[in-house]
Amino acid sequence: MTGERDVAVAAVRDALRLVAGVRPGDAHEKRDRSPVTVADFGSQAVVCRALAEAFPDDPVIAEESADALRASGLADRVVAEVARVCGPTDVDTVCTWIDRGRSTAYAPRFWTLDPIDGTKGFLRGDHYAVALALVVDGEPAVAALGCPGLGIIASCAPGEPASAEPIAGGPRAPIAASGVADPRDARVCESVEAAHSAHDVHAAIAERLGVRAAPVRMDSQAKYAAVARGDADVYLRLPTRADYVERIWDHAAGAAIVRAAGGRVTDIDGRELDFTCGALLARNRGIVATNGRLHDAVLAAARAALA
Ligand code: AMP
Ligand code: MG
Repeated sequence: MTGERDVAVAAVRDALRLVAGVRPGDAHEKRDRSPVTVADFGSQAVVCRALAEAFPDDPVIAEESADALRASGLADRVVAEVARVCGPTDVDTVCTWIDRGRSTAYAPRFWTLDPIDGTKGFLRGDHYAVALALVVDGEPAVAALGCPGLGIIASCAPGEPASAEPIAGGPRAPIAASGVADPRDARVCESVEAAHSAHDVHAAIAERLGVRAAPVRMDSQAKYAAVARGDADVYLRLPTRADYVERIWDHAAGAAIVRAAGGRVTDIDGRELDFTCGALLARNRGIVATNGRLHDAVLAAARAALA
């Protein structure tokens, strides 16, 4: 699936180019009260256009919708930004591209996209990511994860090493999860937003493990990229509320790359992530991603911290 990987990396690179040219500026609040910007809609249009051209039969499950664009009052600005990357276009065409991401049902082969993961980080000028993955038979197989804060696009495909290439241009080089085996040496990362994961439970887990370093807080799937290239050893995402269900686009790309880099990703109960339920990880609870060696110890500490 080298072809899919190359298309995914190129699409993410174009989306990053669009996003880099947009001032974070004003955000519009969606009906679920989460923020959305010109960059979110523009990124989804650019990536979905590339997928439509290369793989016209593949469904795409993505975060944004043309309805939300029309309701946001941002349409004219989105069209102008998309035109900067793709050439002259109009609102209807851009809406058609965005709505290629409106699939919600599971299929044996589908793409999932978070056009800007970590929008709150983007608005603060911190980490964000463009996250694209191809899920085949329920397994994230191909992924491209653009992380401007790290300066890289990480990617993977079956049978090839996980790799990263500079956003600025340059060769693709293999990356690998760390070899840290003593939990006391673990470098843990977690969300910046306290509403997105339970920092207090993470602290209890770290204490049980004897972790010495303070956690590093980063927005977006840049946390998965950090684990995949050995900058961090553990990414914790314990739920803050019993009823929150994780979205597939927040995890598919990152999980594929961490696994390809030799790490492990499960939910907090040690279950494999189940990407066969549509847009939601409906059969999972929270996320634990590690370099692999630390995984069982982290799961045991999580179980004890929650008991
Ligand atoms: P992060 O940047 O890692 O904090 O994650 C950003 C993602 O968190 C967004 O894309 C949202 O889909 C997701 N999110 C929103 N609310 C919650 C919540 N209550 N718990 C977990 N994730 C959430
Ligand atoms: Mg997201």
